[in-house]
Amino acid sequence: MSKEQLIQQLNELDTRIASFDYADALISWDIMTLAPKQGVEARATVMMTLSEMRFNALINDDVSHLIDGLNQIKDTLDPTTLAKLELYEKDINKIAKIPVKEYAAYEGLIVRSSQAWEKAKSADDFSIFAPFLDDIIKTQRRFIEYRGYEGHPYNTLLDDYEPGLTVETADRFFADLKEEIVPLVSKLSEMTPPNTDFLNQAFPIDQQKTFSTYIMEELGFRMDAGVLAESEHPFTQNLSKNDVRLTTHYHEEDLLNPISSTIHETGHGLYEQNIADELGVSRLSTGVSMGIHESQSRIYENNFGRSKAFWSNYLPKLQEMFPEQLKSVELDTFIQAMNYVRPSLIRIDADEVTYPLHIMIRYELEKKLMSEDVDIYDIPALWNDKYEEYLGVRPSSDKEGVLQDVHWSEGLFGYFPSYALGSAYAAQFEHYMRKDLDVDTLLSEGNLQPILDWLASHIHQYGSTKKPADIIQSATGEVFNPSYFVDYLTRKFSAIYNLD
Ligand code: ZN
Repeated sequence: MSKEQLIQQLNELDTRIASFDYADALISWDIMTLAPKQGVEARATVMMTLSEMRFNALINDDVSHLIDGLNQIKDTLDPTTLAKLELYEKDINKIAKIPVKEYAAYEGLIVRSSQAWEKAKSADDFSIFAPFLDDIIKTQRRFIEYRGYEGHPYNTLLDDYEPGLTVETADRFFADLKEEIVPLVSKLSEMTPPNTDFLNQAFPIDQQKTFSTYIMEELGFRMDAGVLAESEHPFTQNLSKNDVRLTTHYHEEDLLNPISSTIHETGHGLYEQNIADELGVSRLSTGVSMGIHESQSRIYENNFGRSKAFWSNYLPKLQEMFPEQLKSVELDTFIQAMNYVRPSLIRIDADEVTYPLHIMIRYELEKKLMSEDVDIYDIPALWNDKYEEYLGVRPSSDKEGVLQDVHWSEGLFGYFPSYALGSAYAAQFEHYMRKDLDVDTLLSEGNLQPILDWLASHIHQYGSTKKPADIIQSATGEVFNPSYFVDYLTRKFSAIYNLD
């Protein structure tokens, strides 16, 4: 077969697999937003059928021959085809060794366990979710054995979300953070808490919705190429660069978290919307890794969206929306309230400084669960003990503890570390963006397009054609360096809290 034919076959395979992923993403988005509870069994069957079809489309002799053929002419391939080849090779290695029935059964398990988790969380009863979690952990460990691993078994899962990440690197990263962040948290905890009285009011949800849409458009999200819906846990699901689904979650008693959630998800959405058109319907036409994705949501949520420069422009707009509630709130008071640092129980409500400690707890637990036999009913106490050790707070219920996150119910082990990595990548990107742009002036003028353009040209456009390490290297001229994150946190919070 000629080179052109091989490339054409690879592109056809890619469109086919990307189409299955599109359907899966759409069903998943529906499950989390609108789908009625009664439909769970039919959905589980459909998901199982689709995943079996996807499996068979990928794991067969024709595809093996295609991959072999392309590998023989690897040196002559253009960068996009090469990236596609490597992605499919990795994908095939990931599932080829798993028996198809077990693989499909796992998809069905995930649909049921998501529903069980929701029930367990609202009833605050871990025992409803426990058998499903037990099954998921055992299945994951079995899959790791099938797939094989080097070093620690958890490496296999870390690499799924952040290609190249290992326990060795993550251990070092978290140890560094712990050393720098724990003292910073205790220093900040000794300070007089900021005045947050103005937040103890009702903020009607209709106005919150209006502000959400307004701020998304200001950030550069194309509303005709995306949707904002509501779900218990905000998330982003990309179908294509012109159909990016976001969700947020409003509370009448809470003004700030919904704003931050909307800005965060918009950051994810902007990444997807600004991928190069040429990639079309392809597995390459999406963000390259969870860590890089989180860097884009967090740079908007935290680095920009909790900064004084940003709110010097947008606080007056927010005050127009809530004139009674916010009329006498000063910018400094607002910024201090938005950046209130205190140890807490719930990850998604955590401030920027304590947040990585929440991730470290999950990282350590997952590492243990993937390598040691742990009685499923011991997990809540293990969780609570770690909160006490690192944050000095202990959950009084499972809802505030082990049941708080959706991830494990969806089988997403190995995913959490990417959240902390994302914050650290974001600090490094921001540092270098500031060499090219006067970021504070742009933020204070509400002129956000140059910032988006910088991110689009250095990061977004590539989709998955470049590896995470290559994106960091080409955007910043150096390898990943977590010291930018520590510097950023220290500088920012010293200024907000007037530390010496
Ligand atoms: Zn995110």
